[in-house]
Amino acid sequence: MATTQFEGVPAVTGEAPGPSGTVVMKFGGTSVAETGRIKAVAQRLVAAREAGNRVVAVLSAMGDTTDELLRLANEVSPTPVPREVDMLISVGERVSCALCAMAIHDLGQEAISLTGSQAGIVTDTVHGRAKIVDVRARRIHEALDADRIVLVAGFQGVSTDYDVTTLGRGGSNLTAVALAAALGADACEMYTDVEGVFTADPRVVPTARKLHAVSYEEMLEMAASGAKVLQLRSVELARNHGVKVHVRSSFSDAPGTWIREEDERMLEKAIISGVTHTIEESVYRVDRIDAARLFEALSDAGVSVDTIVQTGPEIVFSGPSSEAADTSAALDRLGVSWTSRDDLGKVSVIGAGMKTHPGVAGRTFSTLAQLGIAPEIVATSPIKIACFVDRDRVEDAVRSLHSAFDLDAEEAARAH
Ligand code: ASP
Ligand code: MG
Repeated sequence: MATTQFEGVPAVTGEAPGPSGTVVMKFGGTSVAETGRIKAVAQRLVAAREAGNRVVAVLSAMGDTTDELLRLANEVSPTPVPREVDMLISVGERVSCALCAMAIHDLGQEAISLTGSQAGIVTDTVHGRAKIVDVRARRIHEALDADRIVLVAGFQGVSTDYDVTTLGRGGSNLTAVALAAALGADACEMYTDVEGVFTADPRVVPTARKLHAVSYEEMLEMAASGAKVLQLRSVELARNHGVKVHVRSSFSDAPGTWIREEDERMLEKAIISGVTHTIEESVYRVDRIDAARLFEALSDAGVSVDTIVQTGPEIVFSGPSSEAADTSAALDRLGVSWTSRDDLGKVSVIGAGMKTHPGVAGRTFSTLAQLGIAPEIVATSPIKIACFVDRDRVEDAVRSLHSAFDLDAEEAARAH
């Protein structure tokens, strides 16, 4: 049938669940870095199909392909035209999908690879960081009905002006979550090079535990405060559509971490779910400026702002160090007096249980005090306490807070 089925992502969730047993499996760049790994991915997809699932895979570009393509663009032009950049870099994901479809055929299953456009991912017209506005999944449904494994090129779509667009770095995660929402999939499995979400960065805290489950809110706070496992935008999208996300390793069969709706069991097992940190933020102090004028200017400059503290005529805020040049330029244009510092890092204690258990702030500050650390700036949300401390004390603070909140204990993993 040639009728076009429109499935607005915002509308479908909960209203039109697809046939049960649909699973979206997303594989990141490391998981498809070589043809050998692509064959391993093909095997995993075939196994999922043979277990009775309707399988939709979203693949990233192989290894550093996207960076390589961007490098080529910059060799040709210092300011490549955004439309053509998207034509170029959307290719990487197509390569992975086509190769994987070939490997699946050799394993005796039917598969079809689709570009973002063919898969019905419709976006706005902003090249390089387009937003998905609609998922028209008719073609995917048809292929699934015909018993095929469907491979969708991640990170891309087609704009309402019929141009190829890309969704921003790491955008294959967004493709996967949007498809899971539109198809009413049981889960969105994110296969990656780490085993899941940990109670702290295991490189800093060797006793850190892999969490069995975290709530969307906790994951959002973790992603915003240094955990690099999942892109912030994809967690937001998953929360807005109630998509259950499972972050797991593509190199083992071990279960990873589930990100889903908060439930009682999460709160009972441990008040705090993790301690995150980042040393990639700069802290700015601006004198005598109207907050509206300041933050509008920063937003016009396209830079992100994290923690904001205003006391009297002075505003202190933090932002990613990678955007320092643009932030500085925006502040200069405002003609205000400002300073910035790069000697601080942020340590955050995160946990949904904080809402109902008093004493978390007390324990946080006394733990830091025992280390002789006096936080320079403190910012809180209902489920987070973030402290800016000397950058060279960040790791000590993470380790002490991790043990102060018993995160090395078995219960911290929240297994159930
Ligand atoms: N290949 C793109 C990137 O490297 C998209 C993705 O991997 O999700 O950002
Ligand atoms: Mg990539």
